[in-house]
Amino acid sequence: MATKSFQAETKRLLEIVINSIYSNKEVFLRELISNASDAIDKLYYKSLTDDSLSFKKDDYYIKITVDKENRLFRISDTGIGMTKEEMEDNLGIIARSGSLDFKEEIELEDGHDIIGQFGIGFYSAFMVADVVTIISRAFGSSEAYKWESTGVEGYTIAPASRDTVGTDVILKIRENTEEEVEDYDQYLDELWLRSLVKKYSDFIRYPIIMEIPKTRPKEGSEEEYEEYVEEETVNSMVPIWERNKNELTEEDYLNFYRERHYGFDEPLKYMHVNAEGTVSFKAVLFIPEKPPFDFYTKEYEKGLELYSNGVLIMHKCPELLPDYFSFVKGVVDSEDLSLNISREMLQHDRQLNIIAKNIKSRIKKELQEVLDKKRDKYEEFFKSFGRQLKFGVYSDFGQNKEILEDLLLFYSSHEKKLVTLDEYLSRMPEEQEYIYYATGESVSRIDKLPQAEYVKDKGYEILYLTEDVDEFVLKMMRTYRDKEFKSVSSKDLGLEKEEDKADEEAVKEHQEMFAKMQEILSDKVRTVRASERLKEHPVCLANDGEISIEMEKILSSMPHNQKVEAEKALELNVNHEVFQALKEAYQQSEEKFRLYTDLLYNQACLIEGLPLEDPVEYTNNVCKIMK
Ligand code: ADP
Repeated sequence: MATKSFQAETKRLLEIVINSIYSNKEVFLRELISNASDAIDKLYYKSLTDDSLSFKKDDYYIKITVDKENRLFRISDTGIGMTKEEMEDNLGIIARSGSLDFKEEIELEDGHDIIGQFGIGFYSAFMVADVVTIISRAFGSSEAYKWESTGVEGYTIAPASRDTVGTDVILKIRENTEEEVEDYDQYLDELWLRSLVKKYSDFIRYPIIMEIPKTRPKEGSEEEYEEYVEEETVNSMVPIWERNKNELTEEDYLNFYRERHYGFDEPLKYMHVNAEGTVSFKAVLFIPEKPPFDFYTKEYEKGLELYSNGVLIMHKCPELLPDYFSFVKGVVDSEDLSLNISREMLQHDRQLNIIAKNIKSRIKKELQEVLDKKRDKYEEFFKSFGRQLKFGVYSDFGQNKEILEDLLLFYSSHEKKLVTLDEYLSRMPEEQEYIYYATGESVSRIDKLPQAEYVKDKGYEILYLTEDVDEFVLKMMRTYRDKEFKSVSSKDLGLEKEEDKADEEAVKEHQEMFAKMQEILSDKVRTVRASERLKEHPVCLANDGEISIEMEKILSSMPHNQKVEAEKALELNVNHEVFQALKEAYQQSEEKFRLYTDLLYNQACLIEGLPLEDPVEYTNNVCKIMK
């Protein structure tokens, strides 16, 4: 029989799995049980809509048996089975394609990250087995097939026989070795396996049956005992969301989170919901702490598992989550949903909309609570998902601002850490009218911005916006509790000028010179004026319109950009020595004046992080004055 090769990516994954020293090898059991349960779900769901199928409840089960002598572990299910083609498609390639590409850089030595982050489904069997054999007969077919693999070498598929529809996964368990700490023998021990099933898969909805060895007194004798085996259903079968919260431990929720592949991190928070009202539903929801590797890509699909009275309708129902909470994982079960609900109808389903709304406000409440009570944890979360919340504020024309605004964090010039808008407001002196912000690449760069000098000098707190979405978010919000946001670079800072006020006389005096400078810089800035915000620096750029310089940078870096430009003003510090020099040049020589104007403008650009139009000319000019 010809051996077929695995797809290259799968092969690499297998190498990692087989050679892994991943300490938690027992998870293979959870993976295999989870697959068996999914396969039964599929058949059960079919039977509800297909009259030709009349199954009784007892027809669905998962059975685990061991053959110690031959070191065989077997898990059988009465699920939907696989055709020969499905075996090729599902078992020959890794489903989570792209995950390896993405993780190219990580150390592959023990594969811990891969196994930890992606879950590896049935391939995890190779962590404990030398040979994996799958015998399956698909629903609607009279033939069965056998798929077999010893690992990286590839696999074979051949006709086989199986009396009923379903699947057997048979593992030839590895021998214990001197070099390895792992005790493989325990995977052949029924009692040990039973405890693992309890631990990982107690809530699986179908019975997991095992033959458990027992002893009893021999008939007619008090002292002598005989051994026998008894079939036992090992799991409680009540799905976690149906159980009483008080009976469940944190570990139960964590195991469920892992079993469902929601994530391999420790979730930030779990919620167990039992809602009664116009629409009743139960839900177990998780807020992860770390984003899955594909979270900020197009491939990521949001959604919750949706059940109608215990029957799985959909693996990922996107309608249950708004985009800004797309990181939430979990399951929802409602008796009030129709089983025949179709994908197209979902969006308009009244019941579903009510559930979604309810879930949305619960997530918000939960996040608020973490923010209030466990600030460190929230900041970790915000590092992962803050961006998503910000997108939420600014998409849909800001209509979700109310829900999200209190969940935002920005770096504060006062506190030197992330603060909420509410905290900012609470510290605001009475006479302060605006919430000030400054934009830039990094905190340290913004810290040095000349534009911020005046506001800082007034003792006002400034929010430092370092992410590209930040300013768009504030522009969309416009206000927070009736206080307007104001950039430290905007034309009017909204500050009463006292002694610092640039003397109007002086301004008049320089008018002519400013006009001349503007003429020189005609295509670059709209105005040249005396600055009211500069203290130590001679020059800066300000912006007068709605589009800021930071926004211009971001918009022009996008593909197909429309050449949106900020309305720039060149502001000069009339109290600075350099200004004196400029004035003298203006009176003395046109050439020198042009040179100075050009230098000052380019300096302002550099401070702002804008590219110089002609860096060579700029450096030549600097050299000129040095000579
Ligand atoms: P996942 O379960 O995450 O999709 P796996 O690698 O564990 O990934 O399984 C790959 C696919 O093989 C499954 O999606 C399913 O289609 C099929 N499969 C695995 N085990 C079974 C089974 N016991 N019965 C039917 N199909 C199965």
